[in-house]
Amino acid sequence: MKRPTILVLGAGYGGLSTVVNLQKLVGANEADITLINKNDYHYESTWLHEASAGTLRPDQVRYDVKSVIQSSKVNFVKATVDAIDVNTKKVTTSAGEYTYDYLVIGLGFEGETFGIPGLDKYALSIANVNAARQIRDHIEYQFATWSTEEIHDDTRLTIVVGGAGFSGIEFLGELGNRIPELCKEYDVPKEKVRVVCVEAAPMVLPGFDPELVEYAVRQLESKGIEFSIGTPVVEATPEGVKIKKGEEEFEFIKAGTVVWAAGVRGSRLIETSGIENMRARVKVEKDMRAPGFPDVFIVGDCALLINEAINRPYPPTAQIAMQQAVTVAKNIVALINGNPTEEFVPNLKGAVCSLGEHDAIGDVMGRKLTGTKASIMKKVIDNRALYMIGGLPLVVKKGKFSL
Ligand code: FAD
Ligand code: NAD
Repeated sequence: MKRPTILVLGAGYGGLSTVVNLQKLVGANEADITLINKNDYHYESTWLHEASAGTLRPDQVRYDVKSVIQSSKVNFVKATVDAIDVNTKKVTTSAGEYTYDYLVIGLGFEGETFGIPGLDKYALSIANVNAARQIRDHIEYQFATWSTEEIHDDTRLTIVVGGAGFSGIEFLGELGNRIPELCKEYDVPKEKVRVVCVEAAPMVLPGFDPELVEYAVRQLESKGIEFSIGTPVVEATPEGVKIKKGEEEFEFIKAGTVVWAAGVRGSRLIETSGIENMRARVKVEKDMRAPGFPDVFIVGDCALLINEAINRPYPPTAQIAMQQAVTVAKNIVALINGNPTEEFVPNLKGAVCSLGEHDAIGDVMGRKLTGTKASIMKKVIDNRALYMIGGLPLVVKKGKFSL
């Protein structure tokens, strides 16, 4: 009998975890597994705010895909996926065309700009490891330029962060620590630097525990970060951003750097794949398959999963992507063996939001944490993700140990 072909797109938390789980469940001659990813490395998206601020080296955020997969069971292809067509079962990539018996789409997230003019062109987004490097270098360039110009343009030193969700707040936490270092390095007086977080909703971290949010805002404000709340960004230009302050009232913030962290959508390739989707996310069946396509699984940020208790989608996170991957791998094996698939049931343990290397807030298994305790918890979570994919050797190589 012909061995089934399993094609996995994307080596992020969802795709790579699916492969790591599959290689535990499938014997070397039982299936042909191919993993396709744009780069030959996986990056920890959950650490990108650190690389973006320059508090963690970009190479620390990534590791070789081949270091965690078994070449006897998995064929890794470094290629960019250009198109997916689930009706003809064809995946077009920079390395040629692929077909499959089972497809797993784990192509991750893209920044959502909601069609706001200028953002695509003038704002930077914490999207991947190279984009993070670009943000870090752009901010440094502004500091270096300020310190060498004869007539200083202080607005160079203004950084606007759009969005006070988890990504925006974690990035601000890192910036709060990095700015004093940059000031020292480039002889810039600290008072010349302005970091403004602009949030559309009436509160920071909408929906999170108000007491913890208050702590986070206090900590960030103590590092000089300003908040403009209830004031959506409505336009970005080469000079900065326009924000809406009232019915007819607007303000322009001149800034040398605009970082957009105001939400995510799925990979744009979903939109032309033939699968029904919302903002490039697929409302998956209970077993993580795409509706109408029983041989296609969606994992991670491309999947839209409804929390029926509140009738709202679960937030797209690495935590849930890795849990989904376990179910997806099991379900593919079940289908190969002619067995029924199982339902994906999330087991969410809470959330921890970092506020810089030694500070954080967390709501974990009903317990509220702040400061060092929360920060240690965040590092445990980060190291656990490494462990689940690459075991102890990966934790030793890439783990976070400073308390
Ligand atoms: P990704 O991790 O984005 O992986 C997608 C993979 O697909 C990448 O390797 C990419 O290179 C590849 N790819 C994309 N397009 C193509 C293409 N066309 N061809 C080939 N390959 C392609 N979640 C948490 O649970 N905890 C956290 O602490 C946390 N912190 C975060 C901090 C930041 C700054 C950000 C931005 C997100 C954070 N998240 C966190 C959310 C989490 O990172 C995402 O939910 C998670 O990365 C989704 O996993 P994924 O596998 O779907 O996609
Ligand atoms: P998000 O959707 O969680 O937050 C985006 C924020 O931007 C919201 O507060 C929203 O009100 C605001 N916003 C939207 N439009 C705006 C506008 N025009 N002007 C100003 N503000 C605007 O997105 P995110 O923070 O990028 O997070 C994406 C996902 O990743 C979420 O599921 C999040 O839970 C997850 N994440 C988790 C962690 C963690 O667990 N530590 C860290 C980062 C991200």
